[in-house]
Amino acid sequence: LYKKKWATTAPRIPAPRLALHHFDTTYSLQLQELWPAVRSAMLCEQKYGALLNNFACADLTAQRLELLSATDFVSEAARRARCWQESAGVGGERRKTSLEGSGGDGTTLPTETSPLLRASLSSNVKCYTFPRGDISRFHPARPDSLGILSYYLMDAASLLPVLALNVQPDDFVLDLCAAPGGKMLALLQTGACGHLAANDVSISRTKRLYHILNSYVPKEVRETVSVTSHDGRDWGELQGGTFHKVLVDVPCTTDRHSVMEEENNIFHKMRTKERQMLPMLQLQLLMAGILAAKPEGEVVYSTCSLSQLQNEHVVERAIDIAETQFGITVHIEDLSHFRTLFQDTFCFFSGCRLGELVLPHLTANFGPMYFCKLRRA
Ligand code: SAM
Repeated sequence: LYKKKWATTAPRIPAPRLALHHFDTTYSLQLQELWPAVRSAMLCEQKYGALLNNFACADLTAQRLELLSATDFVSEAARRARCWQESAGVGGERRKTSLEGSGGDGTTLPTETSPLLRASLSSNVKCYTFPRGDISRFHPARPDSLGILSYYLMDAASLLPVLALNVQPDDFVLDLCAAPGGKMLALLQTGACGHLAANDVSISRTKRLYHILNSYVPKEVRETVSVTSHDGRDWGELQGGTFHKVLVDVPCTTDRHSVMEEENNIFHKMRTKERQMLPMLQLQLLMAGILAAKPEGEVVYSTCSLSQLQNEHVVERAIDIAETQFGITVHIEDLSHFRTLFQDTFCFFSGCRLGELVLPHLTANFGPMYFCKLRRA
């Protein structure tokens, strides 16, 4: 009798606490001595970036943001890359610059600036952030005279998968899990998508995609976007081998949200099965993304989780399945120069075997964000 009474009145453990307990067990092993700092950062206020809307009065907005001491971290990285190139050119000998090795992670820029590097940094995407350690917040964006909003607030680390995708003029791009639409909007800011297919299985969330399109994108550009709500896992069968670039930004344990918010938390007891099935769903979505890409097409897989099971393991299994079940060879593209280029803005983990991982840190409280680029042979 006592037990029964206890059972019915026992306080339910809040989902964020369950999440934290789970992360303490797994991430302390994975990140070792880095985990306490990452943990504290995830429990503190997240930092945002302001993605500049090139379809509104971008110059004026840029000036306003610069007056607040915010800087565009993408052009800042491009400027550094140029400095590096100049110093590398002196006497034909490569001089060591402040960009190299200072993160202590052994990364260096390639000896020749790679086409990927040049292209990803010459993209039109601009995202303003406050400097490291500055925790100022951006005001909500204002509409311009035509009612178009001037910037979109997002985790600045979310831009890295988009930059890694390196959209080229007239590329056909698929955003397989697109809602609510931050990365879709960043893809459109490149001005390069020949066509953008934005898909999300959730009909209610695709409404948010339309809302972003209507608030940020003029009609003539909206017309180059098709919004669908298919189960992304079926995409390969629906429209296989058609896209130059595919973004697979999968549902995951959304670690930061899970330790902070009770609502819609995947660590709720009743969502245990769904959570355990995530790596399988992620693998199926990545496979569909690979099949949707043309030969030589490129796929970026991303999550906002620190979990190896949802990150590198999914990528490894997808490469294996592509080869053994579909006879498709998939290569991993090296993105380690991102670590060097963006080290002033983000804190990167140097221990990923495949792909790159942004770690939350109190002085640069973005992420987590994992991204890995694959190229279909
Ligand atoms: N890329 C989005 C952005 O930048 O705003 C965030 C995507 S969110 C991490 C993952 C999305 O995957 C959710 O909107 C969810 O509805 C969607 N999703 C879940 N299962 C899916 C499936 N089977 N097919 C397509 N989308 C799915």
